[in-house]
Amino acid sequence: MTRTLRPSGAALPGPVVGPVAGAVAPPRLVLMNPGPVVADERVRAALAGPDLCHREPEFTALMDRVRDRVTRICGGGPEHTSLILTGSGTAAVEATIASAVPADGGLLALDNGHYGERMYEIAGAYGLRRRRLEFGWGRPLDLAAVERALVADPALSHVSVVHHETSTGMLNDIAGIARIARRHGREVVVDAVSSVGAEDLGVERDGIDWLAGSANKCLEGMPGLSFVTARRVAFARVTGHPPRSYSLDLGRHYTAQETARAPAFTPAVPAFYAFDAALELALAEGVAGRAARYGRLATLLREGLEGLGFALLLPPQHRAVGLTAVGLPDGISYDQLHGPLKAAGFVIYAAQGPLAERHFRLSTLGALTTEDISGFLDALARVPAVAAREREGGSR
Ligand SMILES: *Cc1c(COP(=O)(O)O)cnc(C)c1O
Repeated sequence: MTRTLRPSGAALPGPVVGPVAGAVAPPRLVLMNPGPVVADERVRAALAGPDLCHREPEFTALMDRVRDRVTRICGGGPEHTSLILTGSGTAAVEATIASAVPADGGLLALDNGHYGERMYEIAGAYGLRRRRLEFGWGRPLDLAAVERALVADPALSHVSVVHHETSTGMLNDIAGIARIARRHGREVVVDAVSSVGAEDLGVERDGIDWLAGSANKCLEGMPGLSFVTARRVAFARVTGHPPRSYSLDLGRHYTAQETARAPAFTPAVPAFYAFDAALELALAEGVAGRAARYGRLATLLREGLEGLGFALLLPPQHRAVGLTAVGLPDGISYDQLHGPLKAAGFVIYAAQGPLAERHFRLSTLGALTTEDISGFLDALARVPAVAAREREGGSR
């Protein structure tokens, strides 16, 4: 009997000896999108760690170390711990909202941009009682309005707020929100996905009940992992809630990681190796050190942009170090910038929502250098549409 598994005459593939065709590295691009970031070579090299079974003690040791390092970066004390999830930042935000809000509770979502709105939508996806306060994109939160909303509805047990609203580059006053929430006996859920590791924030010091973050923004790891940091007693409490989600139930992950000391599901093992290395670098540099490094890049970038006649969305006191939202000058579109800049080696990022038409975004996260930023500004000045405008004296 002959069973033909391939067309007769087709050669069997030989063993793979060199890099596979798709794996040949393209030239380095300067990524100015807010994650995934340009990685430190030591973090990239860590990805190629040994194949590892996640139910062996070697993985437990790696997971324990990553959890502990994350908790330290988040300013957690001895009562705090962190759970690592395989999934993007949204998975951590979603797991927190789905798990923390009790059946008789609800969510007050503070919305001054895309990610604040996302937290409101997550609550809707789970059918939670919810209320949204919209402040407008790029507008600061109004603390008095938050207090009034909490007083008006005692069933709103949780307040959700984004630390760095990446859609605008705005830094929100987390400690101020947490103080109000505590005064009224409510808990705060903070999306710190694009700030933790580079902006001044501490779960203990600032009274944050739940912090969601991810590996591949200010912590400069690889994409694929996110985390939630909270008090052990808070995780233990939600372990008793009837789960709304199976794979994003923090109670399940707490029982697995804290009690059974093994992940609930198959984790992204290579991303764990990279995150461990990235966290070591982050702890060595320190949050303040990283803030200063990103801040120097952002200042160079912002001064250069203004010198070329670009207007920045936010006034200086509201700006995060990691992202700058920039107005498009009249007569210049995002596509006119994106193509030539990418050809020159720089990836810029579109704006979202109401800013999509007339703005774009530039991140200063990751292993970027001052040469990268000055190279970017040179390339921007040479983009035909920008150069033409400069020649015409720039209708500033
Ligand atoms: C990037 C980001 C997220 C999550 O994005 P993912 O694509 O799911 O990793 C959530 N919140 C903020 C503020 C972000 O910047």
